[in-house]
Amino acid sequence: MKLTNRSKVVSNKEMTFMEKLYLPEIVKGMAITLRHALEGPKGKVFSYPEVQKPRAKVWRGHHVLKRDEEGRERCTACGLCAVACPAEAITMTAAERTKEEKHLYREEKYASVYEINMLRCIFCGMCEEACPKSAIYLTDRLVDVEENRGSFIYGKDKLVEDVNNRIDITDRQSEKQKKAVK
Ligand code: SF4
Ligand code: SF4
Repeated sequence: MKLTNRSKVVSNKEMTFMEKLYLPEIVKGMAITLRHALEGPKGKVFSYPEVQKPRAKVWRGHHVLKRDEEGRERCTACGLCAVACPAEAITMTAAERTKEEKHLYREEKYASVYEINMLRCIFCGMCEEACPKSAIYLTDRLVDVEENRGSFIYGKDKLVEDVNNRIDITDRQSEKQKKAVK
């Protein structure tokens, strides 16, 4: 569902004659590669993904949709995160909670679909700041490598935390925010 009209369709601009030749750009690219190969690595080298560079606790990576202390999803599908998102990366569909679903969702409204396009996301943290329900946080987890673009659209299956394997985000919260979480 489209929540704002900020996105614009970008048209492909016509390539110049030199760009159509490709060769000058290939030679430039090869020259850069050769220069780096001759200079050797600068600083410590990590054999990713086996060895990962240490990340700060407040590093902004893969989001999590939090549950409350009773295991219910906190998100109420208000859309504020999507409106705050400068990359138009978030979309959702709201649904009404039924009586039988009270143990699943904290509020009367919830997100039946919640998606983040990780290719669009710039990990700015605006969604986290905009959320009035402390429902979305960025975490220090990396977004996985995928083989096709569609797999980078993360749905609730990847975003909502596992009820038995909670994700600790307390390092990201200020003392003021910890007190404000209801
Ligand atoms: S981190 Fe920023 S760009 Fe990514 S979904 Fe949140 S608001 Fe959008
Ligand atoms: S994550 Fe927060 S801001 Fe976004 S829709 Fe859910 S409750 Fe609203």
